[in-house]
Amino acid sequence: MSYQVFARKWRPQTFDDVVGQEHITSTLRRAIEKNRVAHAYIFTGTRGVGKTTTARILSRALNCEKGPTPDPCGECESCKSILSGSNFDVVEIDGASNNSVDDIRSLRDNIGYTSMGGKYRIFLIDEVHMLTKAAFNALLKTLEEPPPNVIFILATTEPQKIPDTIHSRCQRYDFRRISAEQIAGQLEKICKSENIVYEKNGLLVVARKADGSMRDSLSLLDQVYAFCRDGIKEKDIRSVLGLVENEIYRDIVESVLEKNPLVALRSVEDILNRGFDLSEFITGFQEFLRDMLLFRLPGARATAGEELSPEATAAMDNLCNRFSEGDLLRMVELIRQTEASLRWSSFPRFAVESALLKMVYMDSSVSVQQLIASLGSGGGSPLLPEIHLTTSVDSKKK
Ligand SMILES: [Zn+2]
Repeated sequence: MSYQVFARKWRPQTFDDVVGQEHITSTLRRAIEKNRVAHAYIFTGTRGVGKTTTARILSRALNCEKGPTPDPCGECESCKSILSGSNFDVVEIDGASNNSVDDIRSLRDNIGYTSMGGKYRIFLIDEVHMLTKAAFNALLKTLEEPPPNVIFILATTEPQKIPDTIHSRCQRYDFRRISAEQIAGQLEKICKSENIVYEKNGLLVVARKADGSMRDSLSLLDQVYAFCRDGIKEKDIRSVLGLVENEIYRDIVESVLEKNPLVALRSVEDILNRGFDLSEFITGFQEFLRDMLLFRLPGARATAGEELSPEATAAMDNLCNRFSEGDLLRMVELIRQTEASLRWSSFPRFAVESALLKMVYMDSSVSVQQLIASLGSGGGSPLLPEIHLTTSVDSKKK
């Protein structure tokens, strides 16, 4: 059997399989059950979040020989032919390449034919925002007087480019970006059933890189798996995906504790020599600092630690406990500002270097609570190595 990429092999087949869009799938399920399916839908959301997939599941749900049913059987002729893209009643149109008024007119002529046996005729126009103004007008005429049992699903990444007149005749569903945790959970499920050995934290790296898109995460998983057949390890993933290793961030953070500017500068030199992109480096640093903050916050800690191995958790714990929340927040803020300034900087390397230097020379802040606690214990706390509290009387004596 030929190799099938994960994105194809694991394309959701039922509403329940669609990850992260329960607000939409449950509404659609209910509409099918109550026989209240709309004539026209707009599906919006960034790439790879399940718009087309959901449209295809809706088509099967409506035209399944055992339906309409929210749980299409997947085995009847109708379900199978929709799945393979050979069903005449379900027409997919790429709005980007069929965007002229003539294309929409021929679509309207096509709508005139009665269904080939299915209950509904469904027209899915992908990238609908690419239609010309004249094409939108032609489409509007059809939406104003929709033929019975014809359903339009207009999918788009840019809903603001769809005219209001079209909007007002459609039910709009906004697909959410999928959280890294949800994506990682799905990747884990796939790895388990494909018998792929994996590190949980590695899957989270893939999920974060996919930036809310399930499809992208599956392509990345393919890419990573092709490289590390004997197990998906975080370190390998970072090198395949061109991400900076966490060790580098750890070194920099430790250089802040040791007030050692050379380590920080050397790490910038190192990542540039190895061909990394500075904005990629800064993004990774933000993620690292975010993890540190989560470790530092008692309630949030569980979610951050869950993905790490016990050794990694202990190391992270050890590192984080040497910083106050206030210091971590200031470091986050510095890096966030650097990210923004990189876009306009004529000398990005120096922008990064100066941010790291600021970090190294930043005074460590001590929380009021810690201060009080250390006073209560008679001073001399290791928390406050350099703070000597003197009263005015003491200073006069000197
Ligand atoms: Zn079926």
